[in-house]
Amino acid sequence: MPKNNAEKILKILKNNFSLPKWVSTERNPFQTLVVTIISQNTAGKNTIRAFEALSNRLPITPEALAKADLKEIEASLHVAGLFRNKARVIKKVSQIIIERFHGSLDWIYSMPFEKTRETLLSLPGVGPKTADVVLLFSAKRPTIPVDTHVERVSKRLGLVPEKANYEDIRTALQTLYLPDDYLDVHLLFISLGRSYCKALKPLCKQCPVSGLCPSKRIED
Ligand code: SF4
Repeated sequence: MPKNNAEKILKILKNNFSLPKWVSTERNPFQTLVVTIISQNTAGKNTIRAFEALSNRLPITPEALAKADLKEIEASLHVAGLFRNKARVIKKVSQIIIERFHGSLDWIYSMPFEKTRETLLSLPGVGPKTADVVLLFSAKRPTIPVDTHVERVSKRLGLVPEKANYEDIRTALQTLYLPDDYLDVHLLFISLGRSYCKALKPLCKQCPVSGLCPSKRIED
């Protein structure tokens, strides 16, 4: 698909969706890491409820969470899926950040991009999507996190091949779009996926980018 189709799609999405309220680029890297671990397999609303409950009980710092009672972290995360496992991961990752990085993730602002990403990926509970969210949201580093919506929408719109994996999709989208648009691409593709380009029954008739979509279904 030519680059200008990708640009047209983004322009239409910008005109049709506002950025979701749960999104914050104001959190520091550690807070973003914690909220992203909580968000795994959990809806946005429950992620924020769990994060706020945790913030009300404990400071969101590696020091506080490393020494917190596991039960206290679990109790805060109760509304999120897999909360016991997430509580363990948050405590563990906090301990590692203290041991390996003197309690700070501030190196993500300045270390070379690939080295930063690789180091984040070495932490427990951090896969490619979590690493990319932390890099993009809290440090404005140039990467596009690929979640299930971004993957589905990118494939249906013909922006990436059907068999593309995480890295293929991330690289292709980053080639099609300018770094200043990476956050919008991530968030607006999620909005499109949630509102219209649903996994089982895409609402192609109402979809704002149907005119540019090779996967458009005639019947909704
Ligand atoms: S036209 Fe249908 S398949 Fe294409 S992006 Fe819109 S909802 Fe998805």
